[in-house]
Amino acid sequence: MTVLASGSKGNSTVVASGSTRILVDAGLSCREILRRMALAGEDAAELNAILITHEHVDHIAGLAVLARKLRIPVFFTEQTHRAWVRMLTPRKTMSYAKWMDKMQQEKEARAALVAAQVETDTLVEEKLPVDELSPAEEVRPAAKADPAFLPAVEYFRAGQNFCIGDIDVNPFTIPHDAADPCGFVFHARQESIRMAIATDLGYIPPNVKLALRNVDVLLLESNHDLEMLKDGPYPWSVKQRVLSRVGHLSNHAAAEFLLRDYDGSAHTIVLGHLSESNNLPELARLAAEQAISNRMTLLGNRVVLAAQDAPLDPICL
Ligand SMILES: [Zn+2]
Ligand SMILES: [Zn+2]
Repeated sequence: MTVLASGSKGNSTVVASGSTRILVDAGLSCREILRRMALAGEDAAELNAILITHEHVDHIAGLAVLARKLRIPVFFTEQTHRAWVRMLTPRKTMSYAKWMDKMQQEKEARAALVAAQVETDTLVEEKLPVDELSPAEEVRPAAKADPAFLPAVEYFRAGQNFCIGDIDVNPFTIPHDAADPCGFVFHARQESIRMAIATDLGYIPPNVKLALRNVDVLLLESNHDLEMLKDGPYPWSVKQRVLSRVGHLSNHAAAEFLLRDYDGSAHTIVLGHLSESNNLPELARLAAEQAISNRMTLLGNRVVLAAQDAPLDPICL
């Protein structure tokens, strides 16, 4: 796992096995994602897919441009995809029948592109001069006409496992104020390694506790310090949103989970999605480490803090 960025200004993480690489969320600009991948020693041309947790801008900001540039499929739930398309084309209200029509048209447009043999793989060679669409992109009328055009879309459902290459993905529902938000457990079959991502959740319900068992690396939200949030600069309504059951997980709630429900299986716990206004890395770390130190069995767990501004060193198992 390589966390490229984590926080309310953008989230993106690479999860990779020996032969499959998945980008989870694309919440920075395409340019910045590619820059950070290079910094972390990741080759963007090796990505097989992009997987989206939910449609908030800090998770999708660079999505369309990146997917088109890399020409890789994007995995969403149907509701998240629809919410994202609606965000990009806000003028239209669209009935479900219209939406189905639109998806059918896009499918046909994609098939036509494949039939026309738009050249592939050139970007792999040219080392990604980023952010503007590549020349091949310009011959794609569908992409120009539609900001939500993607080279390929795959749907998954929360609670139903699916595979990307040799990685099994288990998406689970998280309580958050988005259309159909999900966390993920990734299981690299060859290596028998499991990694989980659970950020953007108001609290940890039983299904999430269950999903987070028996993982080797756990990226867990530790969004805010309760006192800092209460005294902090956010307007009252935003404070209420963050604190709500569909908002974000506090340091305290993350620590409670580690203390009471976590099974201690992880080699590394990554604390992520820290608020820049309402948290301090030391406070998040302290809360988690105190919870862990109260349980002798957890003393082997390493706690790492994900950052907003720079990629973390890859966590390799
Ligand atoms: Zn969110
Ligand atoms: Zn977020």
